[in-house]
Amino acid sequence: MPPSRSPLSRQSIVAAMTELLGRSAVETDDELLRQASVDRFKKYTAVHGIFDGPIPAAIVYPSCTADVAAVLRWAQENLVNVVPRTGGTATEGGLETVVDDSLVVDGSRMNAILTIDPVNMMAIAQCGVRLQDLEDTVRAYGLTTGHSPQSKPLAQLGGLVATRSVGQFSTLYGGIEDMVVGLEAVFPDGTVTRIKNVPRRAAGPDIRHVVIGSEGALCFITEVTLRLFRYQPENNRYFGFLVDDFADGVAALRELITAGYRPSVCRVYSPEDARQHFADFYQGKNVVVLVAEGTERLAAATAEAIEELFKDRPHERVSSKRIQDWFENLNWGQEKIDAEKADMLENSRLGYTTEVSVDWSRVSSLFDAVMNRIRAEFPRIADVTMLGAHSSHSYQTGTNLYFVYDYEINCVPREEIEVYHKPLNAIIVEEALRFGGSMVHHHGIGKYRTPWTRQEHGSAYYLLSTLKQAFDPNGVMNAGTIFPPDQDAGRDPERRP
Ligand SMILES: Cc1cc2nc3c(=O)[nH]c(=O)nc-3n(C[C@H](O)[C@H](O)[C@H](O)COP(=O)(O)OP(=O)(O)OC[C@H]3O[C@@H](n4cnc5c(N)ncnc54)[C@H](O)[C@@H]3O)c2cc1C
Repeated sequence: MPPSRSPLSRQSIVAAMTELLGRSAVETDDELLRQASVDRFKKYTAVHGIFDGPIPAAIVYPSCTADVAAVLRWAQENLVNVVPRTGGTATEGGLETVVDDSLVVDGSRMNAILTIDPVNMMAIAQCGVRLQDLEDTVRAYGLTTGHSPQSKPLAQLGGLVATRSVGQFSTLYGGIEDMVVGLEAVFPDGTVTRIKNVPRRAAGPDIRHVVIGSEGALCFITEVTLRLFRYQPENNRYFGFLVDDFADGVAALRELITAGYRPSVCRVYSPEDARQHFADFYQGKNVVVLVAEGTERLAAATAEAIEELFKDRPHERVSSKRIQDWFENLNWGQEKIDAEKADMLENSRLGYTTEVSVDWSRVSSLFDAVMNRIRAEFPRIADVTMLGAHSSHSYQTGTNLYFVYDYEINCVPREEIEVYHKPLNAIIVEEALRFGGSMVHHHGIGKYRTPWTRQEHGSAYYLLSTLKQAFDPNGVMNAGTIFPPDQDAGRDPERRP
């Protein structure tokens, strides 16, 4: 049973929202509400016009922090489930409205860039600013956010912070958690919290991390301050190498990173995955991609280390131009998403991903274990047309593995998620946890990985569930996200009194 079921009718919820925000800020169009009940941009049922889940009562568009506070306070008092939304590019079910008559609170009209501060290297913007717009604005100052997820043209600051997103240049610039200086968020009782912008502090735990990654399950993010970096693409050097073994590629990345170098891009693709990106030159091999970036001297030093790294390793070289061209077409706008949906509909097939992370010493074992288990156990293996992985974000202690899988769909659309995505996703998640890694590297837990939240955190789940209890005691924030429904709010059976 969903945790927060309001005694109010849809009509009273809509009437209350109209009174609070005005008619133009409340959307009740049937088709828009149906679409707002799902996120998975690859949701096979939605592409077929099937929307089986609970449909929200309304989408509301706050125009300021006070609006958000008024909506959240009202929702908490009336036990109405709230699903925060900004760019709508979530992939793990975070936007799915699993409770009847939810309110989708869409921050995309709060889209002002408030301050660009080139002296203190910060940009302050509201939650509904698209990352691409912020990036274009700061570039005019010769600066960059350094954040470049493939969803950059569509994703907005609220969602990017709420999911702990990571960009393609993360090895140099960090994930969003390294970029957020301060922020403003509204909690379900209407409290507006501002975490101030300071370079660092030792004034207790880092409370930014209560909000970063909270996936709309604790609060609504209204404003974000990001740090900025100099933009100097003229110094970029692009590298591509073909290697025989995936493990060799991973070992090369490890050597470079643990030696202290920070190429902005640091990737290795298995041959199956490489084929979909580099068909014209991968020659059936693993592809290592590296980019040296930064000041002229820093980029040159990183480039020199990369050359040295491959001097005595068996490899074939790929031209820099090919790697650079590939990068320039990597991001996803609405056009690519629409084309993929059309392809799904026409050809009954789907490509999906599950990203995890693990220590350096266990990367190859995890890769092999996933490949072997899927091949041996997945009952529809004959429908899987591609199964591969890449490592695309590396750290001093380990890296991520981004598993990719394409399958032909030989079942009715309604069953696709149960027959294909869930079992494939489950094998990858289970293996990542078995090898001591994390079940999710950057897409967030959403609703699809909640069965493993407790296992992911172990004894630290106490901290996580206490946050939910403290900040969302009525369980109205994005029910079913991060926290499995039976563990939402006060319903965690294992929590101490
Ligand atoms: C084609 C494609 C490529 C992608 N590439 C990447 C990538 O390279 N790296 C990466 O990390 N991710 C990637 N993603 C996943 C997704 O884009 C990111 O997770 C992104 O951060 C979501 O931002 P959004 O504004 O679209 O958020 P939404 O989809 O609107 O929401 C995402 C989650 O955040 C919550 N949320 C949204 N706004 C707020 C708010 N204001 N306050 C509190 N909670 C909120 C929602 O409830 C939901 O749980 C990709 C997705 C797609 C479709």
